[in-house]
Amino acid sequence: MARCDQGYLCEVCGAEVDEIVDSDLYLGYIIGETPPEVLLTQPERHIRCNPFRAQFIVAEGFAPVSVEGAFGKTSLPADYVSEQEQLVTRGWLRLCEVVGLGLHFLEYPLPEVRARLVKEADEATS
Ligand SMILES: [Zn+2]
Repeated sequence: MARCDQGYLCEVCGAEVDEIVDSDLYLGYIIGETPPEVLLTQPERHIRCNPFRAQFIVAEGFAPVSVEGAFGKTSLPADYVSEQEQLVTRGWLRLCEVVGLGLHFLEYPLPEVRARLVKEADEATS
């Protein structure tokens, strides 16, 4: 694969984030936590360099991340954990999926997030 420009550097470890499936920024976007307009301005991070979010990815193909202490899954309320696991895991699977589909980035987010973005855009123009 040809690379025409320098990839984005992770603000945590300083290494290049060269695959979208490693991008915490895009994962946040897909699950509706990062608004599209800040995608280009926010610093990039590897998914694994943001362990708080990464611990909620429970999927084949993703080596589990564990966080110790107050921010670890074992210290968080069970309903919050299962809600986040569902959301972040779906987001990560979606991230893997969009890579091969050649979609426009506006089509990346989960269906409910996309619906909300469209609604917000409509409200902003009416
Ligand atoms: Zn990193």
